[in-house]
Amino acid sequence: MPAGVTSDVKTYQIFINGEWVNNKSGKSFPVYDPSTEEVIAQVPDCGPDEVNKAVAAAKAAFENGPWSNSTAQERGRILFRLSEQIRANSAPLAELECRNTGKPIVEAEFDINDTATCFEYYGGLATKVVGYVNPVPDNAMSLSLKEPVGVAGQIIPWNYPLLMAAWKLAPAIAAGCTCVLKPAEQTPLTALEFAKYFADCGLPPGVVNIVTGFGEGCGAPIVQHPDVNKIAFTGSAAVGKIIVKQAADTVKRVTLELGGKSPNIFFADADFEAAIDGALFGVFINQGEVCSAGSRILVEKSIYKSFVEAMMEKAKKIKLGPPLDRETKMGPLVSKEQYDRVSEYLAIGKKEAKLASGGSRPEKIAKGYYVQPTIFYDVDNSARIAREEIFGPVAAVIPFEDEKAALKIANDSPYGLAAAVWTRDIFKALRAVKALRAGVVWVNHMQPTYVEAPWGGYKQSGFGRELGPWGIEEYLETKQVYINLNEQPIGWY
Ligand code: ADP
Ligand code: MG
Repeated sequence: MPAGVTSDVKTYQIFINGEWVNNKSGKSFPVYDPSTEEVIAQVPDCGPDEVNKAVAAAKAAFENGPWSNSTAQERGRILFRLSEQIRANSAPLAELECRNTGKPIVEAEFDINDTATCFEYYGGLATKVVGYVNPVPDNAMSLSLKEPVGVAGQIIPWNYPLLMAAWKLAPAIAAGCTCVLKPAEQTPLTALEFAKYFADCGLPPGVVNIVTGFGEGCGAPIVQHPDVNKIAFTGSAAVGKIIVKQAADTVKRVTLELGGKSPNIFFADADFEAAIDGALFGVFINQGEVCSAGSRILVEKSIYKSFVEAMMEKAKKIKLGPPLDRETKMGPLVSKEQYDRVSEYLAIGKKEAKLASGGSRPEKIAKGYYVQPTIFYDVDNSARIAREEIFGPVAAVIPFEDEKAALKIANDSPYGLAAAVWTRDIFKALRAVKALRAGVVWVNHMQPTYVEAPWGGYKQSGFGRELGPWGIEEYLETKQVYINLNEQPIGWY
């Protein structure tokens, strides 16, 4: 047994064509509890061989299986059953998500509830996909029909493992696609547990296949596979750029939800206490491992000093601890790799700006990849900690002179996923809403996300939209049908 492996380490298989199978090489990799640094599972290290099998199963299910004749009502009912299973098993799923990601149990419970809601939403939406009658001239009828795009390759990150699987799988299933899902190598467990419900819920074999592995070994072969029609990816901007290039050879449809460096803007007239809460919540929720984290905190000069002080005081009281403890507000980062990455930015930040609080791991916690909630202030928007996504609990506070300056700084970023603005002035708020180049703008809040509303980025935060009707649209092709109503010959020759 390798070092750190305890006897309750669970060994997983992968899920292809409705069956649990081993990978060809038999190689596996460890999955950790980042709060104890201990191995909690071993998972197959898949490569092209398993990807080929999974894609073949997905293709066969799309073309020939019962899925190819399924009705929208049937697909909707399967989604409702999947949702019921998630709700019935929400406690063990939340606990597993919590142990594997390090996120506080209370947040994991929210995630599992949101996951179930996502399947419900798309269960309902399955029967609401409609075509269009195109108003063509002459004696003809023209229709637009909606059809599933085919086999979808879905590559997801580690920050919201099962929820990100739901954002990808639920609209794909509703649309009638088939899927090859690759969870992040750090957090593949809840997706694998979820697959145990598929058969009972009536999901035919091959409709959803799950392979586990690393990005280059397992993710890239999915992206390059000629029988995969679409890639849906959520992850880092660096990998998003690779995926766009690799998808070009087979002209795949691609949707990308990448990183962000989202501005959270505080005007002097905002409710002060709500603003402090919103600044901290915006950047420290889920240990800051959030693509829409409000990691640039822009504060109007007249309240700047007291704002930084109040943030600092409140940040000191944020409770770090074991993720399963219901009082915990911040757990460890997901992995050693992420801990090292964030630690590097802490060092960079100390050179670039002033440190208000945090800046290292908590002294009292001996084990686990914990990082204190960290606030840098007097940050210049050109600093690396203001331009690069850190994906950890690190806030960059930037002062601004007036509204015009605030909006300029806010938009001065390669990213455009999210933004928030805090003010009691409706005119100021709506001017900001219009000016901000971001896929979501919150007013007097930051982070609430609803399955009914679109989600996705401007600029280098990606393209395509998830959730709501926009989410299913990305899994649909549009076919135009022309029907000649003129019984006469064309009369050209
Ligand atoms: P992080 O660096 O935080 O792990 P990534 O963008 O690397 O974020 O990972 C997000 C997802 O993309 C994971 O499932 C990962 O395995 C996958 N991935 C990483 N590199 C590639 C690649 N070259 N091709 C396809 N998928 C990849
Ligand atoms: Mg990576």
